[in-house]
Amino acid sequence: MMDNYDESDMVYCPYNKEHKMLRNKLQQHILKCRVIHKDTVDLMVCPFNNSHLIPEPQFYQHTQSCEDRNIIVHYQTSAPAVLSEDTRHPKIESEENWDDDESVPDYDPQVYCSRANIVREPNGLFPAQRKAFIEQEKRRHFGEDYEEEKKPPKAKARADPRPTPYEPRRPYSRRQ
Ligand SMILES: [Zn+2]
Ligand SMILES: [Zn+2]
Repeated sequence: MMDNYDESDMVYCPYNKEHKMLRNKLQQHILKCRVIHKDTVDLMVCPFNNSHLIPEPQFYQHTQSCEDRNIIVHYQTSAPAVLSEDTRHPKIESEENWDDDESVPDYDPQVYCSRANIVREPNGLFPAQRKAFIEQEKRRHFGEDYEEEKKPPKAKARADPRPTPYEPRRPYSRRQ
């Protein structure tokens, strides 16, 4: 007779796994079974679903595997994850940020290409090379006369009537 029921409608008595019954019979069964087992087995109420009655020895394992827990934990962890994903990738809007982040993992190639004549990768440079690279990019952006340190403007660049984008400028390694 029992075999005619859908297995998903069948539940086990929390006191005794030998007691198998329809889900809607469980509450009534527990009331009877509790009388037998109340001195030997403590039932605890699942924190995720108060219709889950768990024998104390299995309570911790149930709280780890309860199907209702999955819904709650997913809800609790997914919301903050979205926030941290946002805050971990600040927009780089000016070259000042080059100084702040040594590795520059998230630089925007579109912004960078829009102001650079030649796309060059600053990653992997030594600090002194990196500093020179940043100053060179500032000159590229603000004009050839821009100097962070007091140095005379390069005469060669001014004499050139047609500045070419690919003219090699100050090599990194000379600026130590
Ligand atoms: Zn029972
Ligand atoms: Zn549960």
